[in-house]
Amino acid sequence: MSFRNRLIEAGRLVPLGTPGLYGRDGTFEAVAAGLEALITQLGAGERTETLRLPPGMSMAAFARTGYMRNFPQLAGTVHCFCGDERAHRQLVRQLECSEDWTAEQRASEVALVPASCYPVYGLVAARGPLPEGGAVVDVAAWCFRHEPSDDPMRQQMFRMREYVRLGTPDQAIGYRNAWVERGQAMARRLGLNSAVDIANDPFFGRAGRVLASGQRDQALKLELLIPVGDDQEQGACMSFNAHRDSFGHSWGLRTADGAVAHTACVGFGIERLTLALFSQHGLDPADWPPPVRAALHL
Ligand code: 5GP
Ligand code: ZN
Repeated sequence: MSFRNRLIEAGRLVPLGTPGLYGRDGTFEAVAAGLEALITQLGAGERTETLRLPPGMSMAAFARTGYMRNFPQLAGTVHCFCGDERAHRQLVRQLECSEDWTAEQRASEVALVPASCYPVYGLVAARGPLPEGGAVVDVAAWCFRHEPSDDPMRQQMFRMREYVRLGTPDQAIGYRNAWVERGQAMARRLGLNSAVDIANDPFFGRAGRVLASGQRDQALKLELLIPVGDDQEQGACMSFNAHRDSFGHSWGLRTADGAVAHTACVGFGIERLTLALFSQHGLDPADWPPPVRAALHL
């Protein structure tokens, strides 16, 4: 039986009738909570501010992230009914006839968060220059990416935990690089085989190919890959990103001495890490190696 079907049969994932959307059971959530706590513990070294976000962000902030320039195919915006009573009567008729009823849906002031760090830069920039030593933000949100797929490792809505570093060029890249080591140590502690490799994001279109090769050539994005599922395909479960001064420029972020701030982030895919554990150790955490259970407080 496929990994997906085994997850569904065991109840870990509950398919919600469209590709890439699932409910999770209590066992899945216990593992996810253990991962969240372990990530908190591993990040406890730096002075860190915690921020938990809803799955939506303001359309104005979203427009400024550059996401529609780079990944328009993945973005999701919230649309709502804004018609009058006549339009509503038509909508109800269309629903009753199982016709398309979405013509009167209009863009609202909310976009779905594509990566949990995106709302952070504007929030921090609005406070003025960074404090001496810069800042570290521990952020999490449910994220959306329109990539319908039956692969449980590619969900349309998933939790992304991130640490975001804002400061000097050395602080940003130093933090990113430290997490490449910590991320691998975390995988080892969880009994997961992993490898770090240079990644490239799926930038849109022909211009995107140039962006992707720049990202690759400068090793701006690294990923922690873990073999998961039927074919033990490498799944990207963490990413380690150097943005240099791009967000600093677009949000007017400054260091304490007035220079344009550099930023970096490390992202943890909570669903992917949880699935990697089920793939590696089995669908019942009661059977997992005791040190792995202990690391996750299971
Ligand atoms: P990135 O911003 O680097 O693309 O994503 C950060 C992390 O979020 C990835 O390393 C991965 O763990 C998780 N992630 C990215 N895309 C998906 C997806 O389609 N489904 C799930 N479940 N997790 C994802
Ligand atoms: Zn990020």
